[in-house]
Amino acid sequence: MSKTKLLQPDLVLGDTILGLTPEILTYYHIQGLVLDVDETLVSLQQSQVSQELEQWIKTIRQITPIWLVSNNLSEGRIKRIANTLTLPYLLRAVKPSRRKLRQAVQAMQLPVNGVAMVGDRLFTDVLAGNRLGMFTILVKPIADTAVVDRYYPIHNFEIWLSQILGVSLIVPKFEFTKNDQSLKH
Ligand SMILES: [Mg+2]
Repeated sequence: MSKTKLLQPDLVLGDTILGLTPEILTYYHIQGLVLDVDETLVSLQQSQVSQELEQWIKTIRQITPIWLVSNNLSEGRIKRIANTLTLPYLLRAVKPSRRKLRQAVQAMQLPVNGVAMVGDRLFTDVLAGNRLGMFTILVKPIADTAVVDRYYPIHNFEIWLSQILGVSLIVPKFEFTKNDQSLKH
């Protein structure tokens, strides 16, 4: 795998993590989830988990085990979020290091390619997941999408750089409908 390919997500969701549905997990045979925390689940300006996120976790955890793996150094913040959601967590992961991702995957006792790394950053989440051989999903930051462009210059920079490196961030052509379980091509 070339270095450029290591930045290529297997799926670019084109939505926040709340748009990751059970149908998508089934479609890609995803058996476990490792989730980034900051900006993927909770914006950096927030310390509380939203009701929408709690509901999403409730739905998804019936299908797959979930671990949180964060680069954050603050045990207070990550522990509070993980405890609210009653999810296991690892912090100080130093992504793109694979070490703590591997630890989470091993704890799930699942094959590494059956576990998805979900995050908002190419150069930490996607790179770490791809390096380990996981399925990788790039999501939009959880904050209000209207303010993302203004307040998330690092995302814009990474997207610009990844395009230079030849990474395709085009949203897949099919779409999952809310009322219909089938795929529309
Ligand atoms: Mg993040």
